[in-house]
Amino acid sequence: MKQWLLNLSLKKKWTVAVGCTIFISYTIIACVLYVALQTWLLNNEEKNAQRTVDDITMFLAAQGGVTIQQLQNNSPLMKAILTQEQTVRIFNLDGVEVLRINDVTDAASIPAQLPALTKETIHGTNAYVYHTVVQIGPFQGILQLIHPLTTFQAMMNYMMTTLVIIGLGALLLALTLSYYLANLLMKPLVELRESMVLVRDHGFEEKVDFKYAADDEIGELLHMYEAMLRELELSFTQQQQFVADASHELRTPIQVIEGHLSMLQRWGKHETDVLEEGLATSLEEIARMKKMIEELLELARRETLDQYATTNVIEDMQLVQSDLQHIYPHVQFLNDVVEQPVLLPISSNALMQILRNLYENAIRYNEREPIVKTTISSENGGITVTIADNGMGIRPEHLTKIFDRFYRVDEARTQKIAGTGLGLSITKMLVEKYRAKITVKSELGKGTKFILHFLEK
Ligand code: ADP
Repeated sequence: MKQWLLNLSLKKKWTVAVGCTIFISYTIIACVLYVALQTWLLNNEEKNAQRTVDDITMFLAAQGGVTIQQLQNNSPLMKAILTQEQTVRIFNLDGVEVLRINDVTDAASIPAQLPALTKETIHGTNAYVYHTVVQIGPFQGILQLIHPLTTFQAMMNYMMTTLVIIGLGALLLALTLSYYLANLLMKPLVELRESMVLVRDHGFEEKVDFKYAADDEIGELLHMYEAMLRELELSFTQQQQFVADASHELRTPIQVIEGHLSMLQRWGKHETDVLEEGLATSLEEIARMKKMIEELLELARRETLDQYATTNVIEDMQLVQSDLQHIYPHVQFLNDVVEQPVLLPISSNALMQILRNLYENAIRYNEREPIVKTTISSENGGITVTIADNGMGIRPEHLTKIFDRFYRVDEARTQKIAGTGLGLSITKMLVEKYRAKITVKSELGKGTKFILHFLEK
């Protein structure tokens, strides 16, 4: 049963749940109503019977010295006291009937204890039976009133039929309504399912467009699904682009090396000049390829985000600068920074790599004695690190593209500077991973300024 319920479709589960809830609530209310009405009506019937007995005993007491014979003649008057269904009998003390008013029900047996009110079934009819001793002049007898509960029974039967009919109607209505409602609520989920099947079968080619536009939990779920799909599609196309770019970029140095080696094989073996040049170019290309592979791996690896990472930017900056100073002794580093530690929400590794990339570019793309100025300032709840150089600068039309993978400003002046076009894309990837921002300003022939903006830790 449990398994059967679990395996039902959501629509059916919903319908069954609503139907059962309404039915159980209705049954409880109907039972309470039925029992309360029954008690109240029975009470009423008992009071009526009691009142009739009181009226009759009072009537008999008022008759004074009349005989039973006279009373029998007077029976129409007594009949008026009774209702149509009630029967009154008067017995003498030996149990012999001496007087009868109305004759709706047969006589009941007389109990030992008097007065007594009992509920009995006489020939299949429920009735209240009242016995009491009466005194009519010198005659002492026993009065028996039979008050049948036919009206009460009819009313209760009517009530039961009405409740059952209303209950069945309500159940049917509840089932229909809840089925309709379940259908309405399931519609967006069915849409979602269909869209998932489409994506599974046809990938991201099929555009998702949900008709459900309500601003509720399901609407939110659909929005989240759409956003997730867009993100997946983006990262999927980026990955495809990345593989295509990488294989294209790696093909060039391999082709160059292949060309040189086959040239050497054919006629360079004995010519030292050709041999020298061929080997030198091949080694250069291999070095370029090695750097590119390292950088590609760096991009693909995407260091895992450490949410609680912090580092002192001043310390990291000094470490990177002293490393670079060894390689490029002619560079002049100027620092406009405060003395105390400035903590940034980023791992030390990532920050040092960002600084190294920016410093190296500032030094490499420079035709003068490189001067690299670092400024650290805090403003608007954030910390800004600016790295400005006196290099060759970048034309405005290239500025938006320099962060793209493999993008290199292809001008006569930069062609001789070795590079892969990956440095700034790695920098941007790291910066954005730590929820920071990087922007660039540049003036051709004067210099370039990279601005990093971090939220304060
Ligand atoms: P790479 O240096 O390997 O070519 P990058 O992604 O680091 O790759 O840089 C992309 C391009 O941006 C470079 O080819 C260069 O022309 C330009 N560039 C980057 N930094 C500077 C800079 N400080 N000054 C002038 N040009 C720069």
